[in-house]
Amino acid sequence: MTAPILSVEKVRKSFGNLHALDGVSLDIEKGKISILIGPNGSGKTTLINVISGLYRPDSGKVIFQGKEATGLAPYELYNQGLARTFQIPALFWKLTVLENLLVAGRKNPGEGFFKSRQDFLSPWLDTTAGWQLIHGLAVMKKLIRKRSLVNRLFRQRSMIRFLEQLYAAGVKPWRNFFTLAWIEGEKEATQKAGRILNLLGLSRFWNQPAYLLSGGQMKLVEIGRALMAGAKLLLLDEPVSGVNPTLAHEIFSRILRLRDELGITFFIVEHRLDIALRYVDQMFAMAFGQVIASGPPDQVMKNTRVMEAYLGG
Ligand code: ADP
Ligand code: MG
Repeated sequence: MTAPILSVEKVRKSFGNLHALDGVSLDIEKGKISILIGPNGSGKTTLINVISGLYRPDSGKVIFQGKEATGLAPYELYNQGLARTFQIPALFWKLTVLENLLVAGRKNPGEGFFKSRQDFLSPWLDTTAGWQLIHGLAVMKKLIRKRSLVNRLFRQRSMIRFLEQLYAAGVKPWRNFFTLAWIEGEKEATQKAGRILNLLGLSRFWNQPAYLLSGGQMKLVEIGRALMAGAKLLLLDEPVSGVNPTLAHEIFSRILRLRDELGITFFIVEHRLDIALRYVDQMFAMAFGQVIASGPPDQVMKNTRVMEAYLGG
């Protein structure tokens, strides 16, 4: 095994007399999908809460990317590349899918007048003029919404650059009007968002407000936001709970692609083994605040302590 991206060492967490975590140790391998199972009340969510900084453990250590991370605040861990999603997604409901991703981006240069969106879909990129058209429409939408349109237009540095380039290149204005009007930082962020939306299969919904999405799609947007912020390890608490089987498989296929194409590591709490089992590399089983088995999923599923925990619990 290569160096783990995350190590949990002898972590304890009690609520009053209840030992929710009773000495939990585990290693999460980099670039793998690990799943955590266990009967209700066995401590899974508490463990996720400790790892993501929501709870401080009573004792024990959390080590992330080789550095001690015990007791760091969630935002500190988030900045280091450790992100979690919640059982109930938390999005900016009125913002579009793309905007939800852009606000999560680090540089976040999104204050510019020209919301450069020409790169929102990488399959369109460099291939067709279709994206120019859609980007143009997006810009037009913004223009129409703004007052003192002309003033703003000519205050834009990018507008001047655009005109310079236009004349220098002797290009046809109607083809290039929209494409040259961008702000560099935002272009980068938008490109990244486009790539992530693609990987998540959300490109089609880029301009839809988040509240119009299905539950499963909301979970994917939440993952997308974490990826925009540079997440390396994603903790997912029941990503397919309440999601229909087709979409549930879709979500896990996307998780697989993120692992393979971006090298993202996943640590997932999930009950629905009928769905999840075929996608996971490593399994941990908990009962009564302890890890009772770990290893390849088929092995863990056959473990007698695991079977007893489920039958007894
Ligand atoms: P799981 O996610 O495996 O179902 P949890 O980690 O949510 O289990 O809970 C483990 C145990 O800790 C349960 O008995 C639960 O009631 C208790 N518990 C969890 N969070 C709290 C809390 N904030 N206050 C008191 N008890 C809690
Ligand atoms: Mg739980």
